[in-house]
Amino acid sequence: MKNKLHLTTLLLLFINGLSGQSFIQAYADIANQVSQSNVTNNLTEFEALGVKRRGTQPLEDTYTWLRNKYLGFGYTAAQLQEDTFTNGSFTCKNLIVTKVGTLYPDTFVIICGHYDSLNGTGTNDNGSGVNTILEVARLLQNVSTEYSIKFINFSGEEDGLVGSNHYVNTVVNGTVPKMDIKLVFNIDQVGGVAGMTNNTITCERDTGTPTTNNAASNTITNELITCVGLYSPLNTNLSYAYSSDYMPFENNDEVITGFYETNETTHGHSATDLLVNMDPVYNYNVAKAATGAMLHFAVAPTTLNDESFTTFNEISFFPNPVKDYLTINLGTNPEANYLLKLNDIQGKEVYSNTFLGTQQLVSLNLDTLSKGMYVATLSSDKTIVRKKIIME
Ligand SMILES: [Zn+2]
Repeated sequence: MKNKLHLTTLLLLFINGLSGQSFIQAYADIANQVSQSNVTNNLTEFEALGVKRRGTQPLEDTYTWLRNKYLGFGYTAAQLQEDTFTNGSFTCKNLIVTKVGTLYPDTFVIICGHYDSLNGTGTNDNGSGVNTILEVARLLQNVSTEYSIKFINFSGEEDGLVGSNHYVNTVVNGTVPKMDIKLVFNIDQVGGVAGMTNNTITCERDTGTPTTNNAASNTITNELITCVGLYSPLNTNLSYAYSSDYMPFENNDEVITGFYETNETTHGHSATDLLVNMDPVYNYNVAKAATGAMLHFAVAPTTLNDESFTTFNEISFFPNPVKDYLTINLGTNPEANYLLKLNDIQGKEVYSNTFLGTQQLVSLNLDTLSKGMYVATLSSDKTIVRKKIIME
């Protein structure tokens, strides 16, 4: 049995290795929950907050609006961090929301974008990015990930990357030991152009100095490109990173990537950077792509629905789809005790039951569960088997 467990572990690693860049239904199920009405409503609210220049009430109001959004998604006040810095003669604030990972709690996947604007409300630059990050945060709140995530809303970007520079110099490098960052995914101006066919997103890699982090950025950006194809209808265009909040990270030798619109607005930094001049459907598709990419980068659970895996363990689940009773074939040599758990596609545990392995076939009544997809995890002292179950 020890041998078997060892092989099982290897097989698990093998499957996980392969699933790194293949389509994962569970990720698509989550990315497909990006909401067009949320996207449009958030852009409308963001626009109504006004011109978000340093030292203004609208900038302060936008910070409060963001804070309330995250709290409304279920993040706790303890997960929200205010990072204040001096911007000219004003004090500005970055808002950081941290979600702790299960396997690598001290290694962070950062998704970021700025919420300040200059001469207009900044609905595209960068309400569209803020909005994308909000949808990702909403959908991942209840999903466990192996890596920790930081959702960062920077201020002072339009004044010369002041907020992100402060964050890197003071927080990233001020942490002892220095904050360990897996990658930084920056989202700036992803609203598209009204009246145009906005079907392509530009994915940005690091081509600058220092060059030591360029190869890793290239790898991550290729993974981002694959995620766009897997979890959104958008095409991709590969370009280089410049002039946004990933640059201070880039200069600090971190691994960066980014999204930027391919059809570029002519309303940037002006009073006409408004919802009416952008494409909220494009923003919705960008949010889907970003959600899929973050599930991939932070490593959310996948469903190990591999027949050879099940056969190897001599354990099978049937029928599938399940109506009321799920039968588990424990194989010819069952162990003493088993635990069956079911998690919904958000990762929430909805069923847990222990039973004895006194016979080969065990039937469990699941008629209290609502229709939909679940991940069933059967574990014993020596075995763990996961399988996707559909309730109908
Ligand atoms: Zn911008």
